[in-house]
Amino acid sequence: MLKGDGHLSHDLDPLDQGPKDACGVFGVWAPGEDVSKLTYYGLYALQHRGQESAGIAVSEGTRILVYKDMGLVAQVFDESVLGTLRGHLAIGHCRYSTTGSSVWENAQPTLNSTDVGGLALAHNGNLINTGELAVRLAPGATRATTDTEVLTALLAQDGSRPIEDAAAELLPQVRGAYSLVFMNETTLFAARDPQGVRPLVLGRLERGWVVASETAALDIVGAVFTREIEPGELLTIDERGVRSRRFALAEPKGCLFEYVYLARPDTSIAGRGVQATRVEVGRQLAREHPVDADLVIPTPESGTPAAIGYAEQSGIPYGQGLVKNSYVGRTFIQPSQTIRQLGIRLKLNPLREIVQGKRLVVVDDSIVRGNTQRAIVKMLREAGATEVHVRISSPPVSWPCFYGIDFATRAELIAGSLTVDEICDSLGADSLGYISLEGLTQATTIPANRLCRACFDGDYPIPVDQDQVGKYVLEVKV
Ligand code: SF4
Repeated sequence: MLKGDGHLSHDLDPLDQGPKDACGVFGVWAPGEDVSKLTYYGLYALQHRGQESAGIAVSEGTRILVYKDMGLVAQVFDESVLGTLRGHLAIGHCRYSTTGSSVWENAQPTLNSTDVGGLALAHNGNLINTGELAVRLAPGATRATTDTEVLTALLAQDGSRPIEDAAAELLPQVRGAYSLVFMNETTLFAARDPQGVRPLVLGRLERGWVVASETAALDIVGAVFTREIEPGELLTIDERGVRSRRFALAEPKGCLFEYVYLARPDTSIAGRGVQATRVEVGRQLAREHPVDADLVIPTPESGTPAAIGYAEQSGIPYGQGLVKNSYVGRTFIQPSQTIRQLGIRLKLNPLREIVQGKRLVVVDDSIVRGNTQRAIVKMLREAGATEVHVRISSPPVSWPCFYGIDFATRAELIAGSLTVDEICDSLGADSLGYISLEGLTQATTIPANRLCRACFDGDYPIPVDQDQVGKYVLEVKV
């Protein structure tokens, strides 16, 4: 998110994937269980949150082993690697880089040594006072190029006290978004920033405990959801059970974009399924932006629940007009020039017999730069659609995110400079309608003052010192 470079896409770039989340985190404390495999499957369920690198740290009580590499979870780990990662507790991470570059050194979990052993840490979110924090590091303590490495080094350098105490003192001074899982040789810790921007949940196994970014990751390892970790809460998990400590007052500002796009549809946030919220958003979208049409189709997969809701509310039939190749990922071979010109067809292809001669409503979750939607409109017209009406289940994304989502700089965001009518023209659509911020907020059932909505309204709940952010980027990235 901070880099603002390298993501300007080719107009029809099949690898332009829209907004990307920072990361997924997972932790397990469960003697007698195969914790590395549980972590593997937990990360597998969280793969959508980060696809550049994956890693697992494990301990059997005396030392921490970390294995991490670039690539998808299933590319990084196999049976033989997992077989070497034995222990009773583990943490895991899948990453999309929002600070620091996409290189092996920046993969997580990070590992630092302390006076009494090791400390491994995995982070979802983005800190906004990293430069200020980095000044406190002892010279040569770390080659930190990410906010996460600075945080790990600071926790590790205070070796005179239990990690739990060091964390409780350090975390109130850390600003930004952080859902953390960390561990020493014997104990699992989890913490969430006072605003609770990114999700983090606790689950129960028969013989232990699990912490994960989303409830869907609990389901996949057979853990029963216990509760969300509170904003400003630090958990310590060992043979004495789960202990909770509050290091800051909770000022909840959960990320609204989790509901729109980031979280899995089978995840629950604040007791409500994300799928149900997205369907309701679609219904509201139909109420706010009705249109005469023959068929409602989603941009798969993320537009699907809102398209279902739009169809239900409007009475217009729902259908699949676009087929997605789910296997187009960031780690794939760059297409040759000829294939690149086919662009988005690598990722999405229209079903000609479904869309031909139809007035279509195309429902998508968000518009960032507009390249994908422009290509979809063109492709559907070429396939014979007579009208293409675009409906978006989030308000215009007009502001960058400083809390861990890689949208783009404001200049790259199409809604940063164009009006809705101008965007409609730019996409070549017959009409364009975005859900209102109020409509989206209502569908979540969470009060507006408990949500971060900054990418839609520019009101940043954790004040961002842009100079400070820019300065640190320069220091670490040149
Ligand atoms: S700015 Fe947007 S994406 Fe970032 S945390 Fe806030 S709501 Fe979420």
